[in-house]
Amino acid sequence: MRAMNDVNTYSAEVMSNDRISPFGYQIRFERKDLVFRSGQLISIHGDSPLEDRSYTIASGEGDACIDVLYKLIPEGRLTPKLVTLKPGDRACISGPYGQFVIRDALKPVVFIATGTGIAPCRSYVRTYGDLNLTVVHGVRREEELFYREELSKYAYYPCVSQGDTDLFKGRVTDLIGNLTVSDGTHFYLCGAYEMIFDVQSMLQKMGVSDATIFTEEYYYQYDL
Ligand SMILES: Cc1cc2nc3c(=O)[nH]c(=O)nc-3n(C[C@H](O)[C@H](O)[C@H](O)COP(=O)(O)OP(=O)(O)OC[C@H]3O[C@@H](n4cnc5c(N)ncnc54)[C@H](O)[C@@H]3O)c2cc1C
Repeated sequence: MRAMNDVNTYSAEVMSNDRISPFGYQIRFERKDLVFRSGQLISIHGDSPLEDRSYTIASGEGDACIDVLYKLIPEGRLTPKLVTLKPGDRACISGPYGQFVIRDALKPVVFIATGTGIAPCRSYVRTYGDLNLTVVHGVRREEELFYREELSKYAYYPCVSQGDTDLFKGRVTDLIGNLTVSDGTHFYLCGAYEMIFDVQSMLQKMGVSDATIFTEEYYYQYDL
């Protein structure tokens, strides 16, 4: 029996690889005996170590498969190859890694994400069905509101910065000042470095203790 955090490396069969928005995909791998905690990640290995990339597991601890939500970066090294994988193909994956796990599932949680940074939140809700959860998800376009239906069961605040929308138009930083937050809330921030930096500064100014803010940085938004 594998212990939590024993790293497992295996050739995983691709079960599906679906395009869910113009640039968004969800790939599903066979799980074998990978044990992980919601919020942890896997590495998907490319043809050389230079192509290895980290991806949060978007499925729950009890799910039969490993889901990964990813965005195609046409100029990137790995994702243009990932989109070509078909059911029955294999990819080398290893994990689990990381510590972006729920610290206390009894505390109210505010999860603030940009883009594919919503992936850990999807894993949390699949693992902890009764979380006291508020979700703030910032995207450029409405079609990038991944897992919208599943997350709408919670207090759900989508923020759309570009294009036509009837939803809140703006960035997450335009919205979070209006949130009512109860004492003891834990904040989880995931996605672009710039958003995490800005939100953390806002929360600090609102008097939120650093000890209750947990972050997972994925990428720099403006370095392309
Ligand atoms: C801890 C961690 C967890 C991550 N989890 C995920 C995940 O669950 N899903 C996911 O899509 N990515 C995730 N990433 C980013 C991922 O590892 C890759 O960087 C990304 O998929 C692009 O890979 P690439 O080789 O195609 O492009 P790269 O050559 O790695 O990246 C090129 C540029 O694309 C931009 N970029 C990278 N990732 C994204 C993104 N997700 N959205 C928008 N712009 C981006 C950055 O500006 C980056 O410099 C995570 C990164 C880290 C550090």
